[in-house]
Amino acid sequence: MTDPHPSTGFTSYHVHTKWSDGAETVASTVARAAALDLDEVGISDHFVLHPSGVALEWSMPTERLDEYTRDIMTVAASAPLPVRLGIESDFIPETAEETIRRLDRCPFDYRIGSVHFIDGFPVDEHSRFWEGLSQEEADDKWRDYYRRVILMAQSGGFDIVAHLDLPKKFGRYPVADLSADARHALDAIRDSGMAMELNTSGRYQTAREAYPSPWHLREAKRRGIPVLITADAHNPANLNRDFRAAADLLREAGYTEVTRFSGREQIRTPLG
Ligand SMILES: [Zn+2]
Ligand SMILES: [Zn+2]
Repeated sequence: MTDPHPSTGFTSYHVHTKWSDGAETVASTVARAAALDLDEVGISDHFVLHPSGVALEWSMPTERLDEYTRDIMTVAASAPLPVRLGIESDFIPETAEETIRRLDRCPFDYRIGSVHFIDGFPVDEHSRFWEGLSQEEADDKWRDYYRRVILMAQSGGFDIVAHLDLPKKFGRYPVADLSADARHALDAIRDSGMAMELNTSGRYQTAREAYPSPWHLREAKRRGIPVLITADAHNPANLNRDFRAAADLLREAGYTEVTRFSGREQIRTPLG
C-alpha cells in the first residue's frame, strides 16, 4: 500500500497571517497549507518592540503575544498536518533584552530573528529611503546591517536568521567590497548555532533573487550553517512559492539536508 501522505521534504515556516501583515487567519492559512505539498507549516507573525514605543501597523499588537500563541496552538490541535509555533521578531539593540524576555514566556518551536531597522532607517519599507542615500551612505547601511546581524546572533534569542541580504531588496548594492563584513556575519551565525533561511520572496522584488544570494549560501555551507527554505508568505497562495527552484539553489551550494524545528531544537531532514 502506498503512503497516502508521502513526505515532500518541504516545510513552510516563514508565514504571516492577519495577526500581523498577512492576508488570512491562522485557521484558513493552515487549511490551505494542508492542500499543498508540505510536511509541516509554521506561523511566524511579526513582533516588533520599537524603541519609540510606537505600535507598528505591520506588527502584531505586542500585548497580545499570548493570544497569538493560543490561537496557533488551538488551530494546531485539530490540524491535518503539523503546525509549528513560530514568530518573526525584530532584533533592535535598545529593546532586545525586553523582546527576548517576552518571547521566553511562550513555547515557541522557533524564532526567526530579523533586522528591518538600522536605528531610524527602515531597510525594506520603501525604495525611496535607499534612493535618498549617496553610494557611500548606502555602503555604510550595508555594513551597519551586517553588524546588526552579528549582534542578533550573539544575543542568543533567535533560531533562524531572516533574509540575510535584505538590503538588496530595492536593487541598491554596495560598490565597496563588503565580503569581509558578510563573512563576519556568517561566522557569528555559525558560532550561535542558528539556522539560516533561504527566503524565496526576494525573487519578486527589484533584486529578483532569493535571500540570500548563492555566494552567501556557499559561504554558509562552508561553515556548516543549517538552512531551511521559506516563502515569507503574506498570502497562503504563496506558501510554497518557488520551493523546487530553492532546493536546486541549496543543492548547487552543496547542501543535502534542511532543518526543521520542534521546541527550538533542530531536526535535520533530507533536502526535498
Ligand atoms: Zn522580514
Ligand atoms: Zn516576514
